[in-house]
Amino acid sequence: MFHVLPFIWPLLVTVSVIWISQISHVWSPDQLSILRSIPYLLAGLLVVLSVPFRQGRVAITALLFAAIYYVIQQWLQQPLDILFTQKVFVLLAVAIPFNLIAISFCNEQPPVSPLGMMAIAIGLAQLLLGYLLVQHEASLESWLTSWLAIKPVAWAWQPTLALVFAVAGVVGLVVKFHYQRHALDLDLAVSLIIASWMLANFERDHVSALAIIGMLLLLCRSFLASSYQMAFFDELTQLPGRRAMVSDLKHASRSYSMAMTDVDHFKKFNDTYGHDTGDDVLKLVAAKLSKVTGGGKAYRFGGEEFAIVFRGKSPAACKAHLEALREEIAHYDLVVRDAKARPDDHNLGRQRRGAKPKKIKTTNVTISLGLAQRQQGEPYESVMKRADQALYRAKDNGRNRLEVADD
Ligand code: GH3
Ligand code: MG
Ligand code: MG
Repeated sequence: MFHVLPFIWPLLVTVSVIWISQISHVWSPDQLSILRSIPYLLAGLLVVLSVPFRQGRVAITALLFAAIYYVIQQWLQQPLDILFTQKVFVLLAVAIPFNLIAISFCNEQPPVSPLGMMAIAIGLAQLLLGYLLVQHEASLESWLTSWLAIKPVAWAWQPTLALVFAVAGVVGLVVKFHYQRHALDLDLAVSLIIASWMLANFERDHVSALAIIGMLLLLCRSFLASSYQMAFFDELTQLPGRRAMVSDLKHASRSYSMAMTDVDHFKKFNDTYGHDTGDDVLKLVAAKLSKVTGGGKAYRFGGEEFAIVFRGKSPAACKAHLEALREEIAHYDLVVRDAKARPDDHNLGRQRRGAKPKKIKTTNVTISLGLAQRQQGEPYESVMKRADQALYRAKDNGRNRLEVADD
């Protein structure tokens, strides 16, 4: 189900946009004038909300969609056989996929930041470039009959360059979404499909308003998905955090087993190898914990402590899975550099480039675990406390081991 879920909203929006475009001719002039102002209202809302939520990419995408809509409303409200309309249409068709792909590859930054300002400057520069090309570039006219022809072949609805950008963009963004699971990538891909549909149906009424509203509704989902990610997921390890665990367990009616896990002697590890290496190790431990077998779900509880919850399972049923995990982590060789021995590692590394490589040094970390089963009606805080006590016992009994709480 989880793999289908992200696609439901884009599908719903796309189908609605296409369906409403079929029935919009029955609307009154008043209704249509409201429809035409909705893109600006929605884009404004998203920009305003994205500032406190520090979502620069949402703000920039909303501004981009509003700008596309403005260009269409201002300069493209006449038939495509007029030369001026053709020029603007072609430039817009190339600019849309280019900008959406570029946004996907930007790092997330607050809207009010140097990168945010730079993105606005790039957008304005494109408008200026478009104006100069349309007004002053004589060869644009001949390009329209060659490589920028609006209909290069009978079935195509956009110039070849725009089509190539759009197809590559949709495929690239979906693949990126598949690997990185950022909702924005999927929403940008579907926006690109809707924008292509808009350009293909350009001469029909109200298509641009409906398409841009659809694209902005997709962006609302990205905004909510990122806010959810920030609230419930841990930035460093990408595991769900303590808040997610509490929300999963607060109203659990079934029995479950919970393992509290803590990295052994981690303070010493940090002191020896540096905090950054410590962070890398936490990421690695988290990646291993997230792949726990037996239906367990891992959370980053805080610091170097993690929790694993097995729903509907007794301690006896999860013990083997946890032991396998503990062994796997203990036997994993970490390649490290000694931060104390080489304090200015970065510079030293650079100076010594070309010199003989040093012997690779490896080390290991271990984890201790305390496991408790939820009794009938027992609140999650109490289960956690018992799992924690079992964990302390594991520490006292020599670490790198699992202890089960008494019922
Ligand atoms: P024990 O085996 O008893 O658990 O010993 P310990 O040193 O792991 O225990 P302690 O709780 O004293 O130290 C935990 C250390 O974890 C302290 C802190 O520096 C480190 N730590 C907590 N969160 C992070 C983090 O996000 N990144 C890094 N690098 N270190 C962290
Ligand atoms: Mg600890
Ligand atoms: Mg520890």
